[in-house]
Amino acid sequence: MDRSFLDTIRAADVGRDDIAALPVPDHYRAAVLLKEEQHMFDGIGVNEREPAKSLHVREVPTPEPGPGEVLVAVLASAINYNTVWSALYSPIPTFAFLERYARTGGLAARHDQPWHVVGSDLAGIVVRTGAGVRRWSAGDRVVAHCLSIELEDPDGHDDAMLDPDQRIWGFETNYGGLADLALVKANQLMPKAAHLTWEEAAAPGLVNSTAYRQLVSRNGANMKLGDNILIWGAAGGLGSYATQYALAGGATPICVVSNDQKAQICRDMGATAIIDRSVEGYRFWRDEHTQDPREWRRLGQRIRELTGGEDVDIVFEHPGQETFGASVYVARRGGSIVSCASTSGYQHQFDNRYLWMHVKRIIGSHFANYREAWHANRLIVRGRLHPTLSRTYPLDEIGQAVDDVYRNRHHGKVGVLCLAETEGTGVDDPEFRARHETAINRFRRYAPTP
Ligand code: NAP
Repeated sequence: MDRSFLDTIRAADVGRDDIAALPVPDHYRAAVLLKEEQHMFDGIGVNEREPAKSLHVREVPTPEPGPGEVLVAVLASAINYNTVWSALYSPIPTFAFLERYARTGGLAARHDQPWHVVGSDLAGIVVRTGAGVRRWSAGDRVVAHCLSIELEDPDGHDDAMLDPDQRIWGFETNYGGLADLALVKANQLMPKAAHLTWEEAAAPGLVNSTAYRQLVSRNGANMKLGDNILIWGAAGGLGSYATQYALAGGATPICVVSNDQKAQICRDMGATAIIDRSVEGYRFWRDEHTQDPREWRRLGQRIRELTGGEDVDIVFEHPGQETFGASVYVARRGGSIVSCASTSGYQHQFDNRYLWMHVKRIIGSHFANYREAWHANRLIVRGRLHPTLSRTYPLDEIGQAVDDVYRNRHHGKVGVLCLAETEGTGVDDPEFRARHETAINRFRRYAPTP
């Protein structure tokens, strides 16, 4: 990329006029999957597939922002599990999403390319705006949430997640955030927290918004003061924000983790009720087809020991098949199991007697609408919630960064430097930062060795 573009974007004191006058490069560096390779893992079990083999860093042509769109210079991004699924070509190659989107016509046709630029988080600087964009302009320091919507259908106007044309940017659309430039819709943008570095600012986006809707919003579990909340993977991406929401909202998180370091991270966040699932050795499945209700009861018993005899009001679910039967069992009468994922398998099995007889509810939750994402980001901006970044890689090491998340070798979030040359740049409010420095670095202190 042109040196003067890089120098201008990286300059701490760059002005709006400098950015507006800057010629935009016609190509940019991006983490891509290649259409010609989309069947490379056919016949290979998911556990044997390697993200580092399918992900490449290549130059791709810069798109022109259309009406309502914005081109952003990406200083940093973060790894989300959706990029793990994309890189494994599982359950299906994402090129199918791009082709489907392109068939809707107009500007969407640009998304069907021989490459897919992946990634659903960014922190960066607006470089160009398309026609009709009023709220944002060149030079704005922004983060982007990953909800891409059309809103031509009435269904999305109560809650944008119900728009039939709702897509996850950088997963079901092209021009994602693991790149030096990204194309987003103007209504994906939100202000970057002035006290955070670029990589810290990029880390919360997708998971923070998802956890907000899933746990806090009335569209999710509608958490309230005093609730007991079982949080699977409490030191992982989603769980590290769910734990912060529970604590900040006066609830009691019961944090499930799989090692001592993660237990210590949860204690550092302020949690006291922690279950190490490796130490407990739960085996919810006796064999491939049969669950073991005694193991559900053993988990329920452990929860009661930690809560003084109470059951959980909410289960924050995402592991899916492996844990779902237990999650339905341990929720209290009238409680909720709120699910946004199925990492271990999406064919769930549970004993429905415990659901209907005890009047429990299963709630499906997916990402967040703009308002929910905005609220979640506002809490980061105000220092009420903090990024959970443990480790940051340069874009050229994207394969390793994604592999860490896939193999569960990470804590909290894994960051990626794009146009930012080094970690630690982008802080505009050092005074405010100083008040929160310990909390911001909480996960870094336990960064696992790769
Ligand atoms: P993550 O950073 O890998 O964290 C997940 C945590 O879950 C892990 O740290 C692990 O913690 C725990 N875990 C993994 N497998 C488990 C199992 N079999 N049983 C119990 N616990 C298990 O990933 P994430 O970013 O939180 O995402 C989690 C899932 O949610 C992914 O499938 C992702 O695609 C999905 N997701 C969906 C949405 C949405 O909008 N629908 C948004 C974000 C993420 P321990 O090993 O410490 O227990």
